[in-house]
Amino acid sequence: MNNKNSTEQMVDVVISGLGPTGATLAHLLGMRGLSVIVLEREPTFYGNARAVYTDDECMRVMQAAGVVDELAINMQVDTPAQWVLANGEILGQYWRLDRPFGWPIINFLYQPWLETTLTDLLKRYPSVQVVRGRELTQFEQDDEGVTITHQATSNFRFSDDTDTRTEIATDPDPQTIRARYLVGADGGRSTVREALGIGMSGKNFPEPWLVVDLEMKEGEDALRHLPYFSFICDPECPTVCCPQPGRFHRFEFMLMPGQTKEQMEDPQVVRALISRHVDPDKFIVKRKLVYTFNALVAKDWRKGRVFIAGDAAHMTPQFMGQGMSSGVRDAYNLAWKLDSVLKGRANDRLLDTYGTERFHHAKAMIDISVQMKDFVSMSNPITSRLRNMLVKTVLVTPFLGRYVREGRFKPAPTYELDSYLGLPRKHRRSPEGTMIPQPEVRTFKGKRVLLDEVLGEGYALIGLNVDPREHLCPASRQLLEAQGTRYLTLFEFAKRPQGQNVERTNTCELTEVEDASGEMVAWFKRSGFSSGAIAVVRPDKFTFAMVKSSDLDRALAELKFQLQWVPGQEVVAPISSVLRKSA
Ligand SMILES: Cc1cc2nc3c(=O)[nH]c(=O)nc-3n(C[C@H](O)[C@H](O)[C@H](O)COP(=O)(O)OP(=O)(O)OC[C@H]3O[C@@H](n4cnc5c(N)ncnc54)[C@H](O)[C@@H]3O)c2cc1C
Repeated sequence: MNNKNSTEQMVDVVISGLGPTGATLAHLLGMRGLSVIVLEREPTFYGNARAVYTDDECMRVMQAAGVVDELAINMQVDTPAQWVLANGEILGQYWRLDRPFGWPIINFLYQPWLETTLTDLLKRYPSVQVVRGRELTQFEQDDEGVTITHQATSNFRFSDDTDTRTEIATDPDPQTIRARYLVGADGGRSTVREALGIGMSGKNFPEPWLVVDLEMKEGEDALRHLPYFSFICDPECPTVCCPQPGRFHRFEFMLMPGQTKEQMEDPQVVRALISRHVDPDKFIVKRKLVYTFNALVAKDWRKGRVFIAGDAAHMTPQFMGQGMSSGVRDAYNLAWKLDSVLKGRANDRLLDTYGTERFHHAKAMIDISVQMKDFVSMSNPITSRLRNMLVKTVLVTPFLGRYVREGRFKPAPTYELDSYLGLPRKHRRSPEGTMIPQPEVRTFKGKRVLLDEVLGEGYALIGLNVDPREHLCPASRQLLEAQGTRYLTLFEFAKRPQGQNVERTNTCELTEVEDASGEMVAWFKRSGFSSGAIAVVRPDKFTFAMVKSSDLDRALAELKFQLQWVPGQEVVAPISSVLRKSA
């Protein structure tokens, strides 16, 4: 390397981009003790509010990252979503109050709060370094790692009000870092994706929308009439109305033929549009911006030691609020795999499953988002009347009505057959390759805790009324110990063993809990198993296998095979950051 500044570091992972995806990934790697450098081109956080919604699966990821309490405190949870007609009539609502994955399903957030909280909390990890005002410009990879060149940003944003960039004359001061892996979480215009020559497939949509972000003035209380998230299905002006935490609120208006960006961003036009819904004098317009959106997914998610994640890998129309959430899922999927490979617990090929697992799910989210867009943005009066009739009919149809009212049209966290790390699904209800439920369980001391709190962040074996350790041969034991595994016995509620013949002490290696809600027992039953069955759970809470205890060793032999694990190759301590001078 012939750079002006020749300081070169060797770290486990460099992440390019400190958006929600990069920040989540940095947490999940930092908590595992890996050395991470995050390069972020913007010198300061510029306050771009884009995402407004996230779901229960992402809350579960934030729980795993140890940040959920700090984020949830600033969220508006359990918020019904609805389709509303132009005259205010509610066409239909969808919401669920149960929590299959442990968290509320419809949660509204303010993205700048989420991002700044995630960034601040990264300070807890001494092995994670955030470098702002430095942009990745290029990289080269070889068998051992990636050499990343970064330089001072010369063209950046101070504010998102206008979405314009400011050019600053600055010394680029190019430097290099050496990393075992590079993750491009650098957004839709990803430099990393471009440099890898990865194409995207899908569509760019021509329909522009105007986003108007509002902040209610101090002392005002002017949003009581807009408590829920609404798609306003007005053929003359399809509108999205988003509640947000604190004093914030967002509207999105679809531009009709003939309307231009310049017209629509005019303050008087914005005032007229929001006046239909709120008293404009009680609000400050924080942002007004016309944008178009894309429905694109990258054809490859990995090339050698370099990955792309988040918007760099997929661009999702915002109508199901899944763009950021898909990026958070990417981070969760990738983090434990990088950790396993870097610590010698799995062959590098495990990392290929990142793309195969995530691609189809991200694509499914894009497809449903496009369908929702088409559904809410009909401007033809005849088709929109037909749509309204259809919705009304569906909502009173027994099975379909529930499907819609509970928002079950959102793709479930299930990986495509033959694409995931796990045993093949034997039938439609087999749990392999699907996310396990997360109910509350009851501890011996009578505390209710969310299941993941006892499962931890590594592999877990859950035995239904059985101690999974009793069914492990020495080779399985060796594998599980090397991988870092927790053992759990789940008893049906009020069915703990008791009496004179029961062992009086429990080794701390086994956690015993009761299924306080019955949801876990129901999960085993739905999957075709009863007492004595054992679930092998991956670190990201997807099921590797569910088997009878007599088949456990066979399932674990398959895990060993799929990980291509070779005993004795584990790196006990994480690779530490090594500074060295390059030539
Ligand atoms: C109007 C609108 C509404 C939306 N609503 C929702 C919603 O409700 N729910 C939802 O889940 N999603 C929503 N989204 C999508 C969501 O905002 C994005 O999917 C999400 O922000 C993507 O996160 P990311 O971290 O992958 O990328 P980004 O947020 O784009 O972050 C990428 C980061 O990389 C940095 N960067 C770029 N290039 C470089 C470089 N060369 N070197 C170093 N750093 C670099 C950038 O400065 C940026 O900080 C919405 C989007 C829009 C436009």
